[in-house]
Amino acid sequence: MRKTLFESLTHGPLTDPAPAPDNALVAELAAAVGRVARRRLGRSLSIREVDAGSCNACELEINALNNAFYDLERFGLHFVASPRHADVLLVTGPVTKNMHEALLRTWQATPSPKWVIAVGDCAVDGGVFADSYACVGAVENVIPVDLRIRGCPPTPTQLLQGLLALLDQSAR
Ligand code: SF4
Repeated sequence: MRKTLFESLTHGPLTDPAPAPDNALVAELAAAVGRVARRRLGRSLSIREVDAGSCNACELEINALNNAFYDLERFGLHFVASPRHADVLLVTGPVTKNMHEALLRTWQATPSPKWVIAVGDCAVDGGVFADSYACVGAVENVIPVDLRIRGCPPTPTQLLQGLLALLDQSAR
């Protein structure tokens, strides 16, 4: 135990350092999403995250949007606990058979106008789990998808770019 403790204090972390966020770009993107959301919806944007069967790395990147670096709430973008309060569903993972019904009900419970974003390669086309017996595959196999954000996992910056593209597209 002492040896492990000593090693952990004297050796650096074994993982690669996280990429430094581009603060200016993130602030610009988040502010733009907030502005377009207010123009389009007359209020801030509410997001419900749905894990339909992911490995959770996509969730880590989505959660990063709320951390001290990105702090999306300052731009009026909120994660909500209920689909009944959401404008956007961010759906991750290949849809597992266990989550199929839950995803469908979540989509039905979300009031219109609503948008669905498939986040990550698994949500877009099943990704590395596409042939699994336990999955029904892409999110679009279960509910209509308005935007696809590829990546394994996509970065917070890509998520913001996706949100902005979606709102711009819906405004047109
Ligand atoms: S896209 Fe990659 S990171 Fe996201 S759930 Fe699939 S395997 Fe995990």
